[in-house]
Amino acid sequence: NPDWTGLPVVVAGLGLSGISAARVLRGLGAEVTVVDGGDSEGLRARAAELAALGIPVRLGDGDSLPEGTRLIVTSPGWPPSSPLFAAAGPAGVPVWGDVELAWRLRRPLAATGEPAPWLAITGTNGKTTTVQMLASILTAAGLRTAAVGNVGVSVLDAVLADEPYDVLAVELSSYQLHWAPSLRPHSAAVLNLAPDHLDWHGSMEAYAADKGRIYEGNLVACVYNTADPATEALVREADVEEGCRAIGFTLGAPGLSEFGVVDGLLVDRAFVPDRQSSAAELGSVEDVNPPAPHNIANALAAAALARAYGVDPKAVREGLRAFHPDAHRIAEVAVVDEVTWIDDSKATNTHAAAASLASFRPVVWIAGGLAKGATFDDLVQGAEGRLRAAVLIGQDRALIREALARHAPDVPVIEAAEGQTGAVAMAEVVAAAAGLAQPGDTVLLAPACASMDMFTNYNERGDLFAAAVRARADR
Ligand code: ADP
Repeated sequence: NPDWTGLPVVVAGLGLSGISAARVLRGLGAEVTVVDGGDSEGLRARAAELAALGIPVRLGDGDSLPEGTRLIVTSPGWPPSSPLFAAAGPAGVPVWGDVELAWRLRRPLAATGEPAPWLAITGTNGKTTTVQMLASILTAAGLRTAAVGNVGVSVLDAVLADEPYDVLAVELSSYQLHWAPSLRPHSAAVLNLAPDHLDWHGSMEAYAADKGRIYEGNLVACVYNTADPATEALVREADVEEGCRAIGFTLGAPGLSEFGVVDGLLVDRAFVPDRQSSAAELGSVEDVNPPAPHNIANALAAAALARAYGVDPKAVREGLRAFHPDAHRIAEVAVVDEVTWIDDSKATNTHAAAASLASFRPVVWIAGGLAKGATFDDLVQGAEGRLRAAVLIGQDRALIREALARHAPDVPVIEAAEGQTGAVAMAEVVAAAAGLAQPGDTVLLAPACASMDMFTNYNERGDLFAAAVRARADR
């Protein structure tokens, strides 16, 4: 770590993670400046708060590197193509993300003299769910732990907590991995790899390369998805210091060194208990909540990381049983007139929506929003036989409409809430879906797109959906 006293550090981005990084760095004695390209009322209020702490903020210019800067700590949202970073390279100024900063600031535990190890999880979908499952398992094993990431505890808070943790279950986005060069987790899992955030990374190759960094170092276990060859390729290509043990998970019967499912039981064939047995039982698929295929895969990945860390099979089962998913992840809202309404607002990309659509039939599908550079042909082709109808919303709805016209021309399509936002829009969307659904159908909000063109975020999109459905149910 550098000597922080008086070190000129630029924090890029005045969001939540930028503010907490700036405070922590200032607390360490660094000379912190925060920069942000925006200049809104909200930003000015935040800037005033930081100024009161002796942290200057430069608004309206996020591109130029202040003279004398020795380190940049960036927020996840900033694209790597930003002129700020282009200037940093030649000037020899390192760029760290919030994860890199947290990794460097870990404190040793009294018991071991070492900082708490990290069990790290990335992937296009399922990160939050899997991290929470893992934390539940570690808790069942009597360990002090936290689910760290997008939801739950922030990574900086976790490493600086007054009550130290024994081990952390850490969710890592591709952005965070991009800017975390020295991160070395105990073990790591890549759940799946599908196109997402390509506008940020520039290409699928760059996105995959950033995800693959999670396996770098001297890991105990590199956990991958046997059904997703791209994740296995990342293990093979990883720049490992010593042979990391590659451990696959599969929804089928596990091979040697794999986790899988046999007769409805979750089975570990990687960390077998003794020479007499060739597998350890970790509970049944019914212990997984909800027991949808993609979620059983998440549970197997969490189990593999826990077992790599030495957790007992019994604690895996207890931890999975104790786990309940967060809101907006395939949550049943209501059954009205024999139609089931499901909120999977968190399905913000095509890969998540595909998993969701595969869990129901027949489906009235509510989709659309901001496509983030995605294409919809594969998604629509895969779902074609399951669709009763589609209700399309949002800015990039035409992309989905055209994919439906190409691959599922018989599926009725309604375009709803054109030019509207928020509760008003959602009431119209729900009314349209209700008009299309027949008894026994599922109406599924799994938009395959980001929400910000019509809603504050996916939480609001899901909450308004649930409210509109309940309002109909109460009529
Ligand atoms: P993340 O943190 O990666 O965004 P979440 O656990 O919040 O992941 O789930 C995001 C979305 O992806 C939800 O819609 C969920 O139903 C779906 N999902 C969860 N796990 C998987 C998986 N293994 N494969 C595909 N989709 C998944």
